[in-house]
Amino acid sequence: MKKRKAKERTLGDREQELRIRDKKLEKQSKGPIAKRNIEKRRKHRKPLCSLTKIQKRGTHSCSACKEEKPVESFYAYYDNANKLTKIWPTCILCDRKKHRTGRSSTLRERRLSCLLHYGKAKIGKLKCSSCGHKNTDALVLFDLRYKNEKALITLKVYKKLYEYKYPDIKFKLICYNCAHALLYSYKK
Ligand SMILES: [Zn+2]
Ligand SMILES: [Zn+2]
Repeated sequence: MKKRKAKERTLGDREQELRIRDKKLEKQSKGPIAKRNIEKRRKHRKPLCSLTKIQKRGTHSCSACKEEKPVESFYAYYDNANKLTKIWPTCILCDRKKHRTGRSSTLRERRLSCLLHYGKAKIGKLKCSSCGHKNTDALVLFDLRYKNEKALITLKVYKKLYEYKYPDIKFKLICYNCAHALLYSYKK
């Protein structure tokens, strides 16, 4: 979560980038046409609300829910003089929502695609190969190479299987009930 945060660009970053680019252009180009082009570019650029303005106002509008919210409901950085130096474009609530749904949906999709591939079934026709149970949340791939708990595939392994484009491993599509019954029969 924190690592991903660091990569995201904030308003402060964007402002700094634009300023650096302007300086570079001014250095590279000489003559009246170049100057005019730079001015044109500046005119057409959307005005960025400055960080000092945001801090003065005490509120900032979230780009996801479009609500005007107090600065405290955003992730932000302050310098030693308590001056706002960075603020995230979306509020903390929207940010959390985005990360949560994004992550769980891809994991869910990958797991489902693995079940479909190794279960050799079509969407909506997934079922346990021994008892016929149909709830996809209760289904699991059973790795036939193992005869202990390792045989039950975890979310991490689904991700790996998806990344390596479904390697040729023998799996049995089975519900957790039948899987544990099978494990129990191995132990006896
Ligand atoms: Zn929001
Ligand atoms: Zn079953």
